[in-house]
Amino acid sequence: MLARTGGDSFVVLVHHADARGAETMARRIVEAMAPSFTLEGAPFTVTCTIGIALYPGDAMSAEALLRHAESAMRGAKEGSRGGFRFHQPRADVDLRSRMRLDHAMRQALAQETAARPPESGLAPARRDGAERQGCTDSRLRVHYQPQIDLQSGQIIGTEALLRWRDAELGEVPPAEFIPVAEESGFIVAIGEWVLDRAVRQAADWLAQGWRMPVSVNVSALQFRQPAFVDGVAAVLAAHGLPAELLELELTESILLRDADGALQRVQALAERGVRLAIDDFGTGYSSLGYLKRLPISRLKIDRSFVAGLPADASDAGIVRAVMQLAQALRLRVVAEGVETPAQRQFLRDVGCDEYQGFLYAAALDSSAFEQRLVPQLAERLQ
Ligand code: C2E
Ligand code: MG
Ligand code: MG
Repeated sequence: MLARTGGDSFVVLVHHADARGAETMARRIVEAMAPSFTLEGAPFTVTCTIGIALYPGDAMSAEALLRHAESAMRGAKEGSRGGFRFHQPRADVDLRSRMRLDHAMRQALAQETAARPPESGLAPARRDGAERQGCTDSRLRVHYQPQIDLQSGQIIGTEALLRWRDAELGEVPPAEFIPVAEESGFIVAIGEWVLDRAVRQAADWLAQGWRMPVSVNVSALQFRQPAFVDGVAAVLAAHGLPAELLELELTESILLRDADGALQRVQALAERGVRLAIDDFGTGYSSLGYLKRLPISRLKIDRSFVAGLPADASDAGIVRAVMQLAQALRLRVVAEGVETPAQRQFLRDVGCDEYQGFLYAAALDSSAFEQRLVPQLAERLQ
């Protein structure tokens, strides 16, 4: 049974079908919608996104089934246009706590921005700690994880990682709040804030004579904003940071979705001198042909492949394969999540360029980061 329930929303009720039957139906609908059609001489393409809920496994009432189907559809829309997705039970159960998290995050950001009116780009971020001493409420901050050259052992860069401590919830890990922020769209605002902080920090270091490239994670939704490229340029200009001291970390899925649009944006950023890295490399589905066309400078091997080094044969094989690929494409390689000397030795042996991980340091606040940097600078001066 096919029903139209709103402007552009339709419901299909399929009797006596299991998950496979529902999937077949979804594929047939997507296929049927795919060809373009003409209306009064003009060609049109219509895409559709489908969410699927199953009776009785997902819900017993029509109302709940429709709700689940709808949230699955929203999930599918986020993924890629024109697909379908099944209801995933977990997502709905903690909806309330996710909303609470989202609300608390928005308050935290509002507080950060209210607490510090726009100021000169050279205001040292190190002052943050002192300014906020005694301040026990919700706090967002950016920490910096050193990236180490495997040959020289020197810090050659740093990744900016967002940290959030909520007055009630305590320290909330990014793995929990970033997905919520992505779903609600708040990631755009929070991502801009992190970018601003990190660029300001790098500019501050530069003013002190330290050229320290900083890498900032970029979320899919943030990257898709029409004004993203201009926004990045504006932040660099505002703080007077040379573009080559900023690297943006993009994931494979960001680059593959709307591949042509992504390529254009990546090229526009590269033309402005901004460096680009592919984060969590190996966990997505990069096409080699596409990779070749991208003006990126580094691949970051996902830490799931580093974990089993050196003993695990498949991890070792994957890391070697990534090294070969990177050599062919003339890209540098950073290994993530290096925790043991044996992992580091393996990576050095296969020609990996850089690493980051708890073995050297976790993400540090800016003053702790500087403390790690000072001996290195002193050494260089000798
Ligand atoms: P990522 O970009 O892949 O960041 C690396 C993560 O690995 C960080 O987790 C880091 O703390 C962790 N890590 C570093 N060394 C080790 C190690 O030796 N062992 C282990 N087990 N883990 C290590 P974190 O900070 O919890 O961040 C998780 C993810 O959240 C990040 O993964 C990134 O995708 C996202 N994220 C963090 N900050 C931001 C941000 O400002 N914007 C966006 N869009 N995403 C962010
Ligand atoms: Mg990253
Ligand atoms: Mg990563």
